Amino acid sequence: MEKSNDVLLQVQDLKMYFPLTKGIIFQHKVADIKAVDGLSFSIRRGETLGLVGESGCGKSTTGRAIVQLYRPTEGSVHFEGRDLTTLKGEGLRRMRRRMQMIFQDPYASLNPRMTVGGIVGEPMMIHKLADGRARREKVMELLKVVGLNPYFINRYPHEFSGGQRQRIGVARALAVEPEFIVCDEPVSALDVSIQAQIINLLEELQDEFNLTYLFIAHDLSVVRHISDRIAVMYLGKLVELTGGYELYDNPQHPYTKALLSAVPIPDPVVEKKRQRILLEGDVPSPVSPPSGCNFRTRCQFAMDRCAEEEPPFKEYGNGHYVACWLME
Ligand code: SF4
Repeated sequence: MEKSNDVLLQVQDLKMYFPLTKGIIFQHKVADIKAVDGLSFSIRRGETLGLVGESGCGKSTTGRAIVQLYRPTEGSVHFEGRDLTTLKGEGLRRMRRRMQMIFQDPYASLNPRMTVGGIVGEPMMIHKLADGRARREKVMELLKVVGLNPYFINRYPHEFSGGQRQRIGVARALAVEPEFIVCDEPVSALDVSIQAQIINLLEELQDEFNLTYLFIAHDLSVVRHISDRIAVMYLGKLVELTGGYELYDNPQHPYTKALLSAVPIPDPVVEKKRQRILLEGDVPSPVSPPSGCNFRTRCQFAMDRCAEEEPPFKEYGNGHYVACWLME
């Protein structure tokens, strides 16, 4: 599908801090957990932006802050030019309808006491889109669209496999006819054999309904297939962003190189030569991230400057953004 140049979503200096409190009765804030610490990027209409990084780097928080499930501490999220962070009440509810989320765990994200009809129909009820028979028909149509038998409408989540449950999650997200979907590790909890089926389904739906995705994953091999561009995140910040092919062929940031070195290569000859870059040490705490470049405690190229100044997240030609002093 032709990807347009028209920007649907513009995220500017997004910060999401959570207070770290002390005390049992009289709680007081002692520090901030800087889960997301100043992200800027845009997503074009019809595009899939992959967002990757290790667990706990702030990817899911970013997704939730964009769709305003969390209200950002700072920064803006413009959706078709309107800043979502300034919206409240009915205005925000109307915009939320246009942005949906698909969650990682299809076992936990579906209410076990509701039938599939109730689960998929609920968003239509909340947003007053369809009632009674019309709603039931729409749910059946959606089940068909995601590859499920529409006559399963009266069944409960436990009667389905993991892959089928994720299809139910997708149908629920589609129920309000969104334009933008945050797919938060939608295949991580599934068997490898099922992962490709769900990714193919998401791609087909994108073409059919002109959807725009933010596709979150901790594994670069998962986002490779589906993403037009990929953003790499480390400890609340973006370290690299570029086109999917460019990232695999020409990675620049030491962290991206380490992540890529862990991805198996299908060609056995090349795979034999693959050198794994092992990152030493643990990811630092987001309560007190390192000064300067926050990757410096694990970077084999770290220099004095890296501890003193934070490298800017800057474009080095052809929409390839990197935050690293080695690029200067
Ligand atoms: Fe490594 Fe320095 Fe680049 Fe950070 S700025 S990734 S510490 S070389």
